[in-house]
Amino acid sequence: SQKNRLIIVSNRLPIVLSKDNKGRWQAEQGSGGLITALAPVLKNRGGLWIGWPGTSRAHDKKALESVFTRAAGDFGYTFEPVFLPESLVNAYYFGFSNQVLWPLFHDLQTRCDFSPDYWNAYQKVNEIFARTIAQNIKSQDDHIWVHDYHLMGVGQALRKLHATAKIGYFLHIPFPPLDIFLKLPWRFQILESLLCYDMIGFQTQRDRRNFVQCVHAMLNHIRIKGRGQVLSTQVNGRMVRVGNFPISIDYNEFAKKAGTRAVEKRVDEIRAVFPSDHLILGVDRLDYSKGIPERLLAFRNALQRYPELEKKISMVQIVVPSRQRIPEYENLKHEIEQLISEINGTFTRPGWVPIHYLYQGVDRTELTALYRAADIALVTPLKDGMNLVAKEYCASNIHLDGVLILSEFAGASSQLYKHALLVNPHDIEGIADAINQACHMGLDERKKRMRALRKIVKKTDIYWWVDTFLKAVFSHDLDTLGPL
Ligand code: UDP
Repeated sequence: SQKNRLIIVSNRLPIVLSKDNKGRWQAEQGSGGLITALAPVLKNRGGLWIGWPGTSRAHDKKALESVFTRAAGDFGYTFEPVFLPESLVNAYYFGFSNQVLWPLFHDLQTRCDFSPDYWNAYQKVNEIFARTIAQNIKSQDDHIWVHDYHLMGVGQALRKLHATAKIGYFLHIPFPPLDIFLKLPWRFQILESLLCYDMIGFQTQRDRRNFVQCVHAMLNHIRIKGRGQVLSTQVNGRMVRVGNFPISIDYNEFAKKAGTRAVEKRVDEIRAVFPSDHLILGVDRLDYSKGIPERLLAFRNALQRYPELEKKISMVQIVVPSRQRIPEYENLKHEIEQLISEINGTFTRPGWVPIHYLYQGVDRTELTALYRAADIALVTPLKDGMNLVAKEYCASNIHLDGVLILSEFAGASSQLYKHALLVNPHDIEGIADAINQACHMGLDERKKRMRALRKIVKKTDIYWWVDTFLKAVFSHDLDTLGPL
């Protein structure tokens, strides 16, 4: 099955476009772990990646097409851009994807905007994607892998176009519990469209269980059976598999990078700027699911209830700008900035500012240096599909002396729960206590925990994930799958 051509479908193409000083488009491969792991697989199989190129301007179409042709030569696999008019992108991406599915699937139904226009645009865009895929299928033996919440309906739309190729689907975000899923006005359509895939992959067993409960409660005629990593059911005479596969990072790349001279140098510089005993790090995209205000309140609570930590702990909080056109995100930014200035206003002393805040992305060297320099990583999402920051922190912690404080509602906790300090991200005092505990933890215990964490992340890295998922979708014999 290694020879079957692989077609990857995601909302965005894995390419960063920019214009050179003469105004010509140029393409670079994106830097995420998923792209790094899939690129060699695609190269081996003569693969294709289908997605939105990130721009809607009609006059760019021609220029972009030639950029993608060149990129194919450079990267060794092909790109097929799906062009979408801007009005559709707004309603499908900022509307249905990010103001319906994103908040609802993160259990935050009060942040949803169930506009019917959004749903219509979502269906339309999923059909456009399906048509592009159908045009690019060369043989029934092609393997198709659709990614994430933007494209739940692509499988169903493809079946309507009579595509018989095998289609795997992976949901990168959580799947909500029944009572929350039921609020979705289009709950039956979404559930039935997911059942058109040959495999529905989730991050954790909790997500999979939520999905199975929704199917059993809402679709009486369907029973999902089995044990272990992959369950299955029959839908209209077709076998549908349901599994869980925790996504991961390129562990070796982070570990290697953490030991380089450039990172070493930055670690020394960062340590010199923060002479306090304990450096605490938060790294998040701007998103209300990340629990950033709650984390700041917990940091303040630690300073109030453990006054001996004064001047001894400093926090660096990186917030990477994201989805700024949605008002909720703009409001969240203000809330975060107000809290930080209040806390710094109250607690700052000569020579010590408690919170250092960056509203910007940082490059890989700087990020790895921060991971390495930080004594404590504070990863407290209210809900998160996986959370790669938690895994990257472990991989970069080559001296084994850091402590991971991790939300029990991050998917990563399904793998790391034994060796991280687990917290309920809504429990301000609980997080503050964990900060205090981490500050007082002896080196032996820290090393023991970090060694165990790194072992897990190393074993189930992104290459393992791609391999396991592909096997689970496309192999004929489920029993050949080892245990997770
Ligand atoms: N990251 C980044 N730029 C930065 C800081 C972090 O691209 O300035 C990366 C980080 O390395 C990680 C990703 O953003 O791989 C965040 O992934 P995560 O799963 O934690 O959250 P998501 O943003 O996908 O919800």
